[in-house]
Amino acid sequence: MPQRGATVEYRGVCKRYADGTVALDDLSLTVPAGAICALVGPSGGGKTTALKCVNRLIEATSGTVLIDGRDVRDGDVVALRRRIGYVIQQVGLFPHYTTAQNVATVPELLGWESGRVHARVTELLDLVGLDPARYAARYPAQLSGGERQRVGVARALAAEPPVMLMDEPFAAVDPIVRERLQDEFLQIHDRIGMTVLFVTHDVDEAIKVGDRIALIRGGKLVQYGPPDELLARPADAFVREFVGLDRWRKRLDVLAAAGLLDRPR
Ligand code: ADP
Ligand code: MG
Repeated sequence: MPQRGATVEYRGVCKRYADGTVALDDLSLTVPAGAICALVGPSGGGKTTALKCVNRLIEATSGTVLIDGRDVRDGDVVALRRRIGYVIQQVGLFPHYTTAQNVATVPELLGWESGRVHARVTELLDLVGLDPARYAARYPAQLSGGERQRVGVARALAAEPPVMLMDEPFAAVDPIVRERLQDEFLQIHDRIGMTVLFVTHDVDEAIKVGDRIALIRGGKLVQYGPPDELLARPADAFVREFVGLDRWRKRLDVLAAAGLLDRPR
């Protein structure tokens, strides 16, 4: 499954809603190809708005979002969205479609022939840890919350998108399942290498999944860097408090995970 991520760049993006709310205030941020950028911050800070400016569910008031240097507003919005996987908390599976039909949605829209669609669906269900023989024919109501999230991830990956947007994808499942989904997601990313923008309000999740973290508050980028940098050198008192008073323990975990410490995990 060879795939390559695309660079995603926000350049001076502002979003003012009709009622005057400024959700994004001059956001500039570059996510390199193949990176996982965790967008983290307090509720209402603009994270979901930032994601939706990429697939044009929201149009920025000013500024641009570029994918591999190309303005997302150049060209057809439907074609754009087929190149961007999108996973949300409530998954949005089609209730009257089976698991296999849900995962096949975009390949079928793209007109793939049926043998190729079937092969892709089988490959993806395996990839997300759902045995195709058991799960392909089930409807969403016959799945657990964690299984539904896996189907959502498989569906988003179906057409090999160079960019994936994930908006609190694992927030609705219990902590044990969430950990497992995070681990599986990281393994999938290792194999596929797509660029990921991953929204979470949970700083521990951001530290675990992000190669880099963008901390957003009040529509502004407060700090952007690798997890270790936010933990070691928080830009201000807000970041320090947000990453938590136990940041030194977390920092040790990050260093240990990177193999930089000889420390039992
Ligand atoms: P987050 O995902 O970080 O919680 P959002 O991007 O959803 O934040 O929201 C950012 C701000 O924009 C909030 O103040 C929110 O109330 C506001 N907002 C979001 N959607 C709309 C909308 N459609 N109309 C007006 N205000 C909105
Ligand atoms: Mg949100």
